[in-house]
Amino acid sequence: SAGSRESSAWLDDLAEQFAALRDPLNALDQRTGDGDLGTNIAQGLSRAARRGGGDLGSELASMAGAFLDEVGGSSGPLFGLVLSEIARTAGDGAGPRDLGRGLRSGVEAVRRVGGAEPGDRTMVDALAPAAEREALDAEAVAAAVEGAESTRTMTARRGRASYLGERVLGTPDPGAVAAALLLRSIAERSG
Ligand code: ADP
Ligand code: MG
Ligand code: MG
Repeated sequence: SAGSRESSAWLDDLAEQFAALRDPLNALDQRTGDGDLGTNIAQGLSRAARRGGGDLGSELASMAGAFLDEVGGSSGPLFGLVLSEIARTAGDGAGPRDLGRGLRSGVEAVRRVGGAEPGDRTMVDALAPAAEREALDAEAVAAAVEGAESTRTMTARRGRASYLGERVLGTPDPGAVAAALLLRSIAERSG
């Protein structure tokens, strides 16, 4: 395994935060899916913390690798994809504009692989508005939060929630909520 990096206080903190969010995110996914989104995200971040990292680039690479290799469901591969694209732009001296570029290519990759468009009630509804900003900064994070909130009024055309029709109305898409929280953590780390 990729356990060779030094431990990262940021990744440790992130893993702890999302361990506390496991039950609330599972509860959202219980209403609109199969109830494991919180477990999937918490597992990815716990494995990422175990991989560690020295700077934001290596931390994001650990996150991407953990989600791609060690998390199932839809969120594992799709968050893995976004995170690996952001990680590629997070090298030495990278700033919010570089990360914004990575986010743009990450959203494109998720849309290509998952086939979801904005309005389909997925993580794309949080990621795409953030990616429209020039940089991954506080405004981009606010756009992601607003995008996640907007999924409350959407029915799903992708993922498990698509089987539930209008029964999901009123509940936000858990993947979009988690995406906004992850972007906020990354933006705070870089800014
Ligand atoms: P699963 O439905 O396999 O249990 P998770 O619970 O890990 O997957 O993740 C569910 C989240 O994945 C959804 O809330 C949604 O945001 C996202 N998702 C599902 N399908 C797609 C897709 N085709 N494109 C983008 N995001 C998707
Ligand atoms: Mg699920
Ligand atoms: Mg599942």
